[in-house]
Amino acid sequence: MPYQSFIPPRRTLMGPGPSDVYPNVLSALSRPTLGHLDPLFIQMMDELKALLQYAFQTSNPMTLAISAPGSAGMEACFVNLVEPGEKVIVCRNGVFGGRMLENVKRLGAEAVVVDSPWGRAVEVDKVAQAIKAHPDAKFLAFVHAETSTGALSDAKALCALAQAAGMLTIVDAVTSLGGVPVKVDEWGIDAIYSGSQKCLSCVPGLSPVSFSQKAVDKIKSRQTPVQSWFLDQSLVMGYWEGSGKRSYHHTAPVNALYALHEALVQLHNEGLEQSWLRHSQMHELLAGGLAKLGLELIVPEGERLPQLNTVRIPDGVDDGAVRARLLNDYNLEIGAGLGDLAGKAWRIGLMGYGARRENVTLCLAALAEVLG
Ligand code: PLP
Repeated sequence: MPYQSFIPPRRTLMGPGPSDVYPNVLSALSRPTLGHLDPLFIQMMDELKALLQYAFQTSNPMTLAISAPGSAGMEACFVNLVEPGEKVIVCRNGVFGGRMLENVKRLGAEAVVVDSPWGRAVEVDKVAQAIKAHPDAKFLAFVHAETSTGALSDAKALCALAQAAGMLTIVDAVTSLGGVPVKVDEWGIDAIYSGSQKCLSCVPGLSPVSFSQKAVDKIKSRQTPVQSWFLDQSLVMGYWEGSGKRSYHHTAPVNALYALHEALVQLHNEGLEQSWLRHSQMHELLAGGLAKLGLELIVPEGERLPQLNTVRIPDGVDDGAVRARLLNDYNLEIGAGLGDLAGKAWRIGLMGYGARRENVTLCLAALAEVLG
């Protein structure tokens, strides 16, 4: 029997990502593929860099998209900056802080772990104590928006602590970028990575990153070569640098980069402040509706991510059966709990294009029927 084309159904994606992709972004993907050194493509890349600088609120020249998902952005930050034997304070309040720790260990660096409870923000006081106890630590690493729990940490306060101690910061903004304020220059973030598939509502598979001048200086003064050839930023920069200088490093994912450009045009046209406001308004709407259904959010108010709502599964309710009914009967995807929260929570995403009134209404109505 001949194979058939794969035609997926149209779902509403309200899980932890990927989020619903903007229709314009999907059409951008199907535009003609150009050579990745074509002058017109290079022009588009220059714009893409300016748009990423806007999204990150930075003037860092070393701002680009890694041709791989958020996990590669994470690895790129650690592998370029951290050398074997160096000390890194890693904050862990969920799954992704744990992955940062794994990166540090694999690099042969020394990790000091600051644990905060799952479902809560990183505890700033605990971090301050760890910095005091380890004056030789060179880096502070934390997840701004913990997708596994829905907790938002105080990136500004954490960066201020690190700066005062002369440390560099490595920040995971995979879920935060576009959904809540991320201010790289104002907060003094040194290395930051994100993902295309969350609040940017682009297709998965790209990781925007940005490095401060201090981070670039640290990379340049390395005693040992970067262990990864593909992620070595000094090599990739040759491709992303200003027009005219570009040279081959790897074949850029041309159409995916059109898509990211389009997603960032959407963000720029809407405006960052408006995008943050929309996420927060849709979160309020959802939280109000969930409360009426008797459902409880796990993260305390003030530490909640508007774009990722972690809901406690009521006693006696079959997690898998509910999610399966939402998917099969309503074409609606919500996320399962991850790590410590597996089987205990649902994760409802309101990310980018998904942060719309009609999505909130659909989700609340479907949950009411399924649970009713
Ligand atoms: N960091 C956080 C906070 C995430 O939510 C994710 C993905 O969900 C990642 C890192 C890894 O990104 P990716 O799945 O694109 O590799």
